[in-house]
Amino acid sequence: MLLSKIRNFVTESVIPSYCYGCKKESTYLCEDCFEIINSFSKSICPHCKQALAFGKLPNTCRRELYLDRIFSCADYKDVRIKNLIKDLKYNYSFALAKPLAEFGYWWLQKNEYADEIKNNIGLIIPIPLHKTKLKKRGFNHAEHLAKHLGVLLDIPVANNLLTKNRRTIPQIETETKEQRQENLKNAFSTIGTPGVPIVSTNVLLIDDVLTTGSTLRECAKVLRKNGVKEVWALTIAQD
Ligand SMILES: [Zn+2]
Ligand SMILES: [Zn+2]
Repeated sequence: MLLSKIRNFVTESVIPSYCYGCKKESTYLCEDCFEIINSFSKSICPHCKQALAFGKLPNTCRRELYLDRIFSCADYKDVRIKNLIKDLKYNYSFALAKPLAEFGYWWLQKNEYADEIKNNIGLIIPIPLHKTKLKKRGFNHAEHLAKHLGVLLDIPVANNLLTKNRRTIPQIETETKEQRQENLKNAFSTIGTPGVPIVSTNVLLIDDVLTTGSTLRECAKVLRKNGVKEVWALTIAQD
């Protein structure tokens, strides 16, 4: 934890930032490069692969994923986005969460999704990490993305409502949908009291990358069980 704090302090204050896109000395992703990132105007449903108008999932997919809307900004294959996310997570640079969140907000505004979110969502919740992973990494990257997005969208963020109870194997190492769901089964819980809705507002889940949607699904399922009416999701990239 301390090491990652020192590292981030050094990164932010001493080493100049170079744009992952154009290499210009500025921020880690400059606004000019937002335009050239391979981004989607409509996100793709991870269940039926349809392009989603205003992120709205068809009824069958809503029932399957427990999510009402999904917004995924960019193609994970875009090397600039991929490297930013990888360095955020594996090189312990939480300073990279800010430009990624700024890019996400820019994308939401560009596609006229930002107001939709502001008008419908009262709380942002990042996907939690298990405590052993949190200890190893020193921070939760999704929390940092959520913090910056919360400021930009002017929506409060709750980091402690959802918890990850046990370690799971990376979803990428699972082969079938059944394995993925089994791997994540009961992996998340809320601090709520049974039968009492934890919040009286719709919730926006935040994560870095959307792949199969299994993690978002498990979190949404728990929130739904605890009285949340609508669960939306925002990820910076989709793979
Ligand atoms: Zn640039
Ligand atoms: Zn679908």
